[in-house]
Amino acid sequence: MRHRFGTQRVPAFAFAISVLACVSAFAADANKAPLLPPSGRYETDDAWRQPVAPFRIADHTWYIGTEGLSALLIDTPQGAVVIDGGLAQAADMLLAHARTVGVAPDKIRWLLHSHAHADHAGALAALKRATGARVATNAESAAILARGGTDDIHFGDSLTFPPVQTDRFLQDGEAVQIGDIALVAHFTPGHTPGSLSWTWTDTRDGKPVRIAYVDSLSTPGYKLVDNPRIPRIVDMYKVSFATVRGLPCDVLLTPHPDASGWTPGAKNAHPRPMTCTAYADKAEKNFDAELAKQRAAR
Ligand SMILES: [Zn+2]
Repeated sequence: MRHRFGTQRVPAFAFAISVLACVSAFAADANKAPLLPPSGRYETDDAWRQPVAPFRIADHTWYIGTEGLSALLIDTPQGAVVIDGGLAQAADMLLAHARTVGVAPDKIRWLLHSHAHADHAGALAALKRATGARVATNAESAAILARGGTDDIHFGDSLTFPPVQTDRFLQDGEAVQIGDIALVAHFTPGHTPGSLSWTWTDTRDGKPVRIAYVDSLSTPGYKLVDNPRIPRIVDMYKVSFATVRGLPCDVLLTPHPDASGWTPGAKNAHPRPMTCTAYADKAEKNFDAELAKQRAAR
């Protein structure tokens, strides 16, 4: 989640903005699909609501999200898994994209996710209803998913989403198995206390490819110093930077695709591949700068 996501707007105003944006986006590129509807309660980047044609990451792994919010589909003969869905209004688009690549809704067995914010977990409730898939996450995220993002440590009640119940509680390092593919959960707390990163091994050109879907490591407006709601937030991030550096990581993807060099919808969707180490290094540099600023202002 980014800073400006927290901006609350009068729904009518947000709607007017988005209609204008929609018209101008259409004028700019007639080939683009229409934007998904606006959120009403909060402002979002147009890119977050811009559908793009699904594309293949590896033999069993598809990108089915929007231009600015990742959603991944892992398809095997024994069933499929979705990781992240983006905004609530993306649910129908995700199911249509899954169908496009040959996956019917009832083939989806598990719904996984990165972190419990409205821009990534918003579609999970509708996906669960439509597919009958089970939600697997850790206890920290399960609690937030169940109350639809209310009482968020940093955002309060301003960024809520449709609540969804968890069916399976995961421990750090535990895997969700689908066919021959083991999706391993890595706890990377910081951006949220329950933040999860995922790794699995797929194939491409007959060779194994280790995919890492690593959660956001940003601090959008967070109070890092003397925060009574989360006193050890600095330690959490520091452990997670180290965890991310150690992940198996031939191909890195992130909930915001541009954070790891992806440009979904472009002819070349991956112009600037990034390693997990580079991703963690960049995030830690930004984190340290923000922390120094907040400590100086104490
Ligand atoms: Zn977020």
